[in-house]
Amino acid sequence: MSGDMGTPLEPPSSPSSRRRLAPEQYVAGVLDRQRGMLSRVITLIESRRPADRDLAQRVLSELLPHAGNSIRVGITGVPGAGKSTLIESLGLNLTRQGHRVAVLAIDPSSRITGGSILGDKTRMAELSRDPSAFIRPSPSGETLGGVAWKTREAMLACEAAGHDVVIVETVGVGQSETMVADMVDFFLLVLIAGAGDELQMIKRGLIEMADLIAINKADGENRGRALRAMTQCRNAIRLMVPSDSLWVPPVVTCSALENVGLDTIWANVLAHRAKYKLAGLFQERRRAQSVRWMWDLVNERIQRVLRENPEVVQLTARLESDVQDGRMTATAAAEQIIQALRFKTQQEPV
Ligand code: GDP
Repeated sequence: MSGDMGTPLEPPSSPSSRRRLAPEQYVAGVLDRQRGMLSRVITLIESRRPADRDLAQRVLSELLPHAGNSIRVGITGVPGAGKSTLIESLGLNLTRQGHRVAVLAIDPSSRITGGSILGDKTRMAELSRDPSAFIRPSPSGETLGGVAWKTREAMLACEAAGHDVVIVETVGVGQSETMVADMVDFFLLVLIAGAGDELQMIKRGLIEMADLIAINKADGENRGRALRAMTQCRNAIRLMVPSDSLWVPPVVTCSALENVGLDTIWANVLAHRAKYKLAGLFQERRRAQSVRWMWDLVNERIQRVLRENPEVVQLTARLESDVQDGRMTATAAAEQIIQALRFKTQQEPV
């Protein structure tokens, strides 16, 4: 790898603290697989400054033809399930095999709780020192929608920088799992036996989203419990997923700590990919994801203006009471809101 610079775990620096480069310099740097340049592009993507956002979009449109060539894997599970241990072990296995791994996180908890679930501890220390790995913490101070689309764009940048495996990690906050499932090819749910979360996961529809369920910490005296949880989970899946569907999510046990079972997980990722490609569904899934992403962005932007633009908020409040009191028809009020949105969304940064 040429021109490698910066520490592997890049702190998100303020773009304004550094001189901005021309778009082609960022593009060339990323394509040249310079870690520091990739990091700067992601910082631009995460920036709230309109000038940075514009620049990021110009850079991304140049990078787009070079993106898309990775295996995209999403990982979720409750805090403590062993996600970061698993990603570190799996990531190191993969870099040893010659893969270049990027790890991105979606953690909207910093906004909700004031502390970050994923970011508070030193995570994946060994993987972060690996020159073939790139780890980026979750952007902070964002809505979940904001975090998700920034992560999606960061994923494209990582792919253009030659990362052929992108792992997107999330904790179960809000709808974050749904958003991650919608940006990856393979969604992995990490459970631990005896935590009582199996039922919770079924309730929240998580098992339906999963392409594989890994019961982690199947080591030491916990092994028996993990095996029992595996059987229970398999039974639950058998009831939920028709046996003739293209992919019945396997349930496996693993020990992230002892690096046992992770090869099986990866073999399943590859088998799933091969099966979907053969059935012509792989690209279709990605195409559908891109279109849904576009509409998510449109909705997000409209909602933001409706919620946050003071003039629009004032207008909608007035129109609501006009409609309530019969001073105006709903149709006329809706038309006024649409007009205001049309004007205001033009002024808002994407
Ligand atoms: P995360 O919050 O889901 O990222 O979980 P971590 O990866 O930080 O792991 C939480 C704790 O569980 C740590 O103390 C890990 O060392 C431990 N842990 C993770 N995986 C395993 C495993 O396979 N076996 C055992 N015994 N402990 C594990």
